[in-house]
Amino acid sequence: MKALVFSDNQEIITQILTALKGRADADAAVLSPLMEGMDQYGATKLYELTGNPGSDAIFHALSKIFTEGKYDLFLAGSTVRGREVAGMMSEALNLPAMTEINDISFKDGKVVTKRFFYGGKTLLEEESGARVLTVMAGISEAARVQGKSELVKVELPASKITTVNRIDKKAGSVNIEKAQVIVSVGRGIGSKENIEKVKPLAEAVHGEIAGSRPVCLDYQWLGEDRQVGLSGKKVKPKLYIALGISGQIQHIAGMRTSRVVVAVNKDKSAPIFEEADYGIVGDLFQIVPKLVSALKQ
Ligand SMILES: Cc1cc2nc3c(=O)[nH]c(=O)nc-3n(C[C@H](O)[C@H](O)[C@H](O)COP(=O)(O)OP(=O)(O)OC[C@H]3O[C@@H](n4cnc5c(N)ncnc54)[C@H](O)[C@@H]3O)c2cc1C
Repeated sequence: MKALVFSDNQEIITQILTALKGRADADAAVLSPLMEGMDQYGATKLYELTGNPGSDAIFHALSKIFTEGKYDLFLAGSTVRGREVAGMMSEALNLPAMTEINDISFKDGKVVTKRFFYGGKTLLEEESGARVLTVMAGISEAARVQGKSELVKVELPASKITTVNRIDKKAGSVNIEKAQVIVSVGRGIGSKENIEKVKPLAEAVHGEIAGSRPVCLDYQWLGEDRQVGLSGKKVKPKLYIALGISGQIQHIAGMRTSRVVVAVNKDKSAPIFEEADYGIVGDLFQIVPKLVSALKQ
């Protein structure tokens, strides 16, 4: 199998290339400028795309490379732009697509993929003739290899997409995917103001604050970049403290690879306790100050 990998997030490209190592010959297409060491993750050729990176322009450049290079597979990191380009590739080149995979291997010319199913409750393994795949972040631990990729510069054609305005993300945005310790709050926190009451715990354990979907998306008590779960970020900290989170499967899908999980919930039958290594049944507003004072001693 010969694969062409694309993402506007270069870290995802390094993870996909590592996942393909020993399984497929891979080249990668990267938006300029290149991340340090990008040419050391096993791509034979590294296409550096320069110019206005509209999804349409990326698609036109990559579909030409794909066809001329006689690739079998197109893998795109599952970002907004990656999904757009993958959709165009699938439709224009008439290639079957499979979305949101988190594992890949090959058997008898078929692609064997794994992806979450039933809202994250099960992992579905499928053997298929898919040729366009969108890949979730975290498919592997990126690892550098011996040798360097051959660098090929590609000027993107003109895009029909024009940037009319650019709004910077709010200050204080955070990458919770990299956090070693996370203190995560759910609807049980009750209000935006109450988040201040758990900040001393986050400070005591040197953790980042994150939250469930209601807290980040529905009520906007925290930024959307702090949402953990199926439709949020996938995190794998050493310690995940869940406060007032019921533990619905869509939340668990984002934090189940945490090393140690501590849950505080006043409902002893909350499903979060099935995921927890340590569970405290009680009111988080009473438990949190006790944890903070114990940690300070
Ligand atoms: C397609 C889809 C995608 C989704 N994606 C996500 C996602 O990415 N992330 C996500 O989180 N959800 C996601 N959801 C929503 C998910 O199904 C749940 O609705 C959500 O996770 C519930 O959030 P919660 O645990 O904060 O709230 P609730 O389920 O309302 O739980 C609140 C908990 O707080 C406890 N509590 C209340 N007061 C206190 C107190 N004082 N002390 C201690 N405990 C207290 C309660 O006992 C309860 O267990 C998704 C749903 C769908 C359909």
